[in-house]
Amino acid sequence: VLRWIALGSAAASGDRYWTLDPIDGTKGFLRGDQYAIALALIEEGEVVLGVLGCPNLPNADGSTGALFVAADGSATVALGGADRRVPVEVDRVTDVSQARFCESVESGHSDQSQSAQIARLLGIENAPYRVDSQCKYGAVARGDASIYLRLPTRADYVEKIWDHAAGKFVVEQAGGRVTDVNGNDLDFSQGARLSANSGVVATNGAVHDAVIDAVQSVLG
Ligand code: AMP
Ligand code: MG
Repeated sequence: VLRWIALGSAAASGDRYWTLDPIDGTKGFLRGDQYAIALALIEEGEVVLGVLGCPNLPNADGSTGALFVAADGSATVALGGADRRVPVEVDRVTDVSQARFCESVESGHSDQSQSAQIARLLGIENAPYRVDSQCKYGAVARGDASIYLRLPTRADYVEKIWDHAAGKFVVEQAGGRVTDVNGNDLDFSQGARLSANSGVVATNGAVHDAVIDAVQSVLG
């Protein structure tokens, strides 16, 4: 099974391949909290399909568990194990001070003190929504949050494709925008790692440029 997973993840080559993260957010999983199963299809360096299973994610209707699917120019979600899929859309927040942002629970995976500085700069007073795993992309895709910040904690950490491919596609197909901290598109043509990028910023699109400006001024 490990070898099979590695066909898409560790080897990451060829014109068309799958990348699978069987348990994303391992620490959340061990805590009995949030985790995700993330699957994406990559064709010639572009994500063309994303599936994000978030078995523990609480939904507004009181059910638990959300399965996001992004393909063919749309994003949908099925809630609580139901078969019926409904469209997902990012929120319509345009005043960035009213935005909610989410970030990792684990401070080792994203710099939380820099996130707090960025939030202050943007006039955001709401506390961050801390969620493990790629479920954060699902949260932005359906408007539970407007911003997902993943700020590098170390200069030498390079993000892996399986941690972002499915989620970023779900957000984009829901009408949002995903770049690295410098505002560059995530480049999935570099093999198993996002070696041309640094960190990740996902938003509802409307507030993206303002968030990137703030990120740049805090990160220098
Ligand atoms: P999250 O729950 O958002 O922190 O995401 C979990 C993912 O973070 C794991 O699947 C890891 O691949 C990834 N990860 C592990 N260590 C780091 C690190 N030092 N910086 C950024 N991401 C990391
Ligand atoms: Mg992972």
